[in-house]
Amino acid sequence: IAMLDGKVALVTGGSRGIGEAVALRLAEDGADVALTYQNSAERAARVVDRIKALGRRGLAVQADSADPVAVRAALEQAVAEFGRLDVVVNNAGVGVIGPVEELSLADVDRVLNVNVRAPFLVSQAAVRHLGEGGRIINIGSCMAERAAFAGGSLYAMSKTALTGLTTSLARELGPRGITVNLIHPGPIDTDMNPDEGPGAELQKGFTALGHYGQPSDIAQAVAYLAGDAGRYVTGAAIAVDGGFAA
Ligand code: NDP
Repeated sequence: IAMLDGKVALVTGGSRGIGEAVALRLAEDGADVALTYQNSAERAARVVDRIKALGRRGLAVQADSADPVAVRAALEQAVAEFGRLDVVVNNAGVGVIGPVEELSLADVDRVLNVNVRAPFLVSQAAVRHLGEGGRIINIGSCMAERAAFAGGSLYAMSKTALTGLTTSLARELGPRGITVNLIHPGPIDTDMNPDEGPGAELQKGFTALGHYGQPSDIAQAVAYLAGDAGRYVTGAAIAVDGGFAA
């Protein structure tokens, strides 16, 4: 019997990158997995096909995390389809990096709505469905822990907000047997931050290991927190960042 057999997970932003790897890993571990996406309908459908090929139920829901009605509805749809909810991974995020004077009000609204408001709203909606053993796993960033280079004011601010969400919710939900944790990825090779991108060499230089991580590195940390091995871990921030914040 796989570790997450009979459990249901929701991964926001599961069509590409880290979210895709997380969705597939949770399915490998036995969970039925619902994922949200914004634009990549085909990629999301392919992830669902791969979840089904693993013998699990899969569901893709188009839901812009910036839209509070849509994110809540996606969660309720997942619960309606699969009948329960055990693991929530707040992964969908946008990275807007740039000189502070050049960030527009629209940038500020978008980043805060997607990276901060949506994890709050999804967690809030999830709490009604999560029982003993429930898990909320937030995806932060090593930039919340260390301002290694200029341009991160808005993005780092949004990711730092997840620290307060994580610790406070861990305190509030602990008595119900629900854990809440935060993973801070370092530079991970995805569309958002390609290993060959213009800022890649700079970022590698700030890690201790000297190279990028893979989406699977984050997925393994999520799997640890989601499974029984993570049952006594709550309110924690786990860096999976190659030593970026060291
Ligand atoms: P990608 O840009 O490669 O993938 C983003 C995923 O999130 C896609 O599935 C995308 O859907 C979805 N998404 C983005 N915006 C929205 C939205 N408004 N509503 C719904 N879904 C959305 O990003 P990564 O995989 O690299 O990043 C995942 C998380 O990890 C983010 O929170 C990011 O901030 C964080 N992170 C990433 C790091 C890195 O180096 N890659 C480092 C530190 C943190 P669609 O395909 O439809 O666009």
